[in-house]
Amino acid sequence: MIPYGKHSIDQADIDAVVDVLENHFLTQGSKIPAFEKAIADTVKARFCTVVNSGTSALHVACLAAGVAAGDMVWTSPNSFVASANCALYCGASIDFIDIDPSTRNISVEALQVKLNTAKHQNALPKAIVVVHFAGVSCDMQSIRALTEPFGITLIEDAAHALGGQYLGEPVANCQYSDMAILSFHPVKAITSAEGGAITTNNPELAHQLQLFSKHGITRSALYTPQEHANEGWYYEQQVLGYNYRLSDLHAALGMSQLAKLPEFIEARSAQAAFYQQQLADLPVVLPTVPDYAESAWHLYVIELQKHSRKAVYNALKQRNIGVNVHYIPIHIHPHYQQLGFRPGQFPHAEHYYDVALTLPLFPSMSKQEQRYVITSLREVLI
Ligand SMILES: *Cc1c(COP(=O)(O)O)cnc(C)c1O
Repeated sequence: MIPYGKHSIDQADIDAVVDVLENHFLTQGSKIPAFEKAIADTVKARFCTVVNSGTSALHVACLAAGVAAGDMVWTSPNSFVASANCALYCGASIDFIDIDPSTRNISVEALQVKLNTAKHQNALPKAIVVVHFAGVSCDMQSIRALTEPFGITLIEDAAHALGGQYLGEPVANCQYSDMAILSFHPVKAITSAEGGAITTNNPELAHQLQLFSKHGITRSALYTPQEHANEGWYYEQQVLGYNYRLSDLHAALGMSQLAKLPEFIEARSAQAAFYQQQLADLPVVLPTVPDYAESAWHLYVIELQKHSRKAVYNALKQRNIGVNVHYIPIHIHPHYQQLGFRPGQFPHAEHYYDVALTLPLFPSMSKQEQRYVITSLREVLI
């Protein structure tokens, strides 16, 4: 089976992990701040906090934003459930903004309309989690211009977009947001097995992110009373936080992987370009990338125009091609329907879901494998 996504591990990655096992602390050692600095430098953000998953990153980002019971958070229905669950973890309510069918990201027009309505109903969200679907950045400048007057915290779910660009700058630099989250799950641009990070340029948010991901505990003289300055043992728990720490083993793997990010993105881009060229004459909608973005090509999603998605999916699976579907709209899941959401509420996301098919794309996929995917898709669409 050719999978839809896969990690690439080399000897340098293995050596980096073994080095930690043999020579360093397994957790809370020097690999953590080193990885945090390397991520911040890569995406050109001031601060970075690493955590044990992208999901934890979303949770602490919401906590740092002050999201709590009684608050509202908005996100895209076309995402992994974690983009919405983070609001529920905080006791807040969630709502969705329909997508723009061309970018598959939240529609800026729909956001504008929803903000106007919410303003009149006094129901503005505390935070908005925008999702850079498949590796294409949202139009952050336009979104920021709409949310800034209301003081809404803007969180980028950049789990798909590490290595991508917006207006010529790295995604997750937080130029037009308060925080950005990353995931290092094995199908993502780089992996630490499990892992995630939050970037920000705001020192107070950076402090909150560290606090909430480490039990709510601080030992920093900056944040504890002066009277304890000479008590080396002293720490205090100031808020209810979590143990979302990444281990040094994971950080060493992530750090070794990060060095290869440019070559991973280059390989993904070349594969995407080959699909674009080879599939152009088929009755499918190919992904488009707006002028303001350079995609990180986390996913390559086509939309079927004439054929049943189920039939094409099954025919390709039968040919050992690990096609997939991203995403079942979040509001359709039973848990979200129990909260009152219904099919029909976000028609663009729902229509897109009905016809979407993710083709395999990952740096170590060979040209031969990709040709086989293309030939098979042609056969199936005849
Ligand atoms: C992968 C992913 C996450 C969650 O990341 P984990 O590291 O798997 O917890 C969140 N949002 C999106 C859009 C993702 O693709």
